[in-house]
Amino acid sequence: MQPLYIHNSLSRKKELFEAINPPHVGMYVCGPTVYSNVHLGNVRTFLSFDVIYRYLEFIGYKVRYVRNITDVGHLVGDTDEGEDKIGKIARLQKIEPMEVVQKYTNDFHDVMRVFNILPPSIEPTATGHIIEQISSIKKIIENGYAYLVNGSVYFSVRKFSEDYPYGELSGRKIDELMNNTRDLDGQSDKRDPLDFALWKNADDSHLMRWPSPWGIGFPGWHLECSVMSTKYLGEEFDIHGGGMDLKFPHHECEIAQNIGANKNPNPIRYWIHGNMLTVNGRKMAKSEGNGFTPEELITGNHKLLERGYSPMTVRFFMLMGHYASTLDFSNDALQAAEKGLKKLCKGIDTLIKLSGGKVPNENVDINAFKEKCYNAMNDDFNTPVLIATLFDGIKTINATAEKIIELSQNQIDQLLKIYVDFVEHVLGIEWDTAFKTEEEVSMIMNEVNLVEQLVNLRSELKENKDWDNADKIRNILSEFGITIKDSKEGSTWSHE
Ligand code: AMP
Ligand code: ZN
Repeated sequence: MQPLYIHNSLSRKKELFEAINPPHVGMYVCGPTVYSNVHLGNVRTFLSFDVIYRYLEFIGYKVRYVRNITDVGHLVGDTDEGEDKIGKIARLQKIEPMEVVQKYTNDFHDVMRVFNILPPSIEPTATGHIIEQISSIKKIIENGYAYLVNGSVYFSVRKFSEDYPYGELSGRKIDELMNNTRDLDGQSDKRDPLDFALWKNADDSHLMRWPSPWGIGFPGWHLECSVMSTKYLGEEFDIHGGGMDLKFPHHECEIAQNIGANKNPNPIRYWIHGNMLTVNGRKMAKSEGNGFTPEELITGNHKLLERGYSPMTVRFFMLMGHYASTLDFSNDALQAAEKGLKKLCKGIDTLIKLSGGKVPNENVDINAFKEKCYNAMNDDFNTPVLIATLFDGIKTINATAEKIIELSQNQIDQLLKIYVDFVEHVLGIEWDTAFKTEEEVSMIMNEVNLVEQLVNLRSELKENKDWDNADKIRNILSEFGITIKDSKEGSTWSHE
């Protein structure tokens, strides 16, 4: 089996993954700015990192996964000037900024749950780390990479670039950047157009502001991620992720801040960037008006949608593309994904019902199949290749069901474990409920509960040596295809 290789956006190469402190892995992913409902584009990025997180855990790493909530400092237009995105909504709706934050954080969590995206190990907020951000700014000033003007503190990119490279991640040359940036129009206190705010002073019109050694203000957008990743993962950690659109300036500034504060020239080992979900080739974004919410997608209530699609269909659709490629949304693509997922779920259903012989089929190499699944994921988390491999395996399952070939029970059990491992645990597809309505799922759960109660009742009857009634229960259940197996540890049941 080949070891895990990850495409590192910093070196632009596929690199062998070596954890700094195995079996531990520290992974930081930029989370949402909670000022509006998440759209499907955001979901794609968090889903890509969900699978990376799941796979690292699956192959035995103990991952501390930190994904933040941006609840202050992200300004309208993603620049250093203008109103805070959350503050603006609070002002327009005449509510507390923290009400905006709570409302959209709740929405974000609901959406993550619907798509079976696991919660991170730590979900820190920017407003919960003001003290740490102030300390970090002090360190950057002490190290000579930031300056104070009128109560605001700016990072000096030119000064920093004299000592360390700037622009490596996004492949930008500092001179070109300088030439391409328009002169400051006098509105800003910055010395250089490339400089960015670490702390902004704020007058009474700002709803979110804190005291600092430089006066009352709020932290710059990029700072929280540097500070919270360092706090929870250390000055040097394994993986930093986020959407491709964050490479510049956000991640470039993060690197400069980390180095500027701690003087560790290599704070992050592997940078992973998820690519964009597009609609007719254009990035899905709230500002483009082409973003729909997951709820609209599920109900089909949007002009771009022919009908609704189940969350697992959408999840599967996204995993059919590699995280580093753009993925274009279309009804056709979703319908193809739905068909594919049905085929996969049916394959697993068939596999569960198969029974095999004693002699292994030597023409079927289950280990080689398993290795192919691992190799797909070890090649930079290549989910489309994994899915193609799983589809390939369905041919073997169907041939066995149609009695064209025969497998041993052991081979069937191994195959089932591979499918459950990769489909359920790695891809995060809830294959057993993907196409069942909530009512159907709850009916199944009730039935399971009823059977369990009857099996327990029978055990009690047996303990009281009431063999007649115990047998009656066994017979009733067997009429419904349920078999009870007794052992020293107790009774278990299965459905044929
Ligand atoms: P935001 O709330 O705007 O800071 O975005 C949260 C995350 O969603 C970031 O990692 C973005 O890169 C990502 N994102 C935004 N739009 C898209 C899109 N169309 N496709 C994929 N990811 C996106
Ligand atoms: Zn960030």
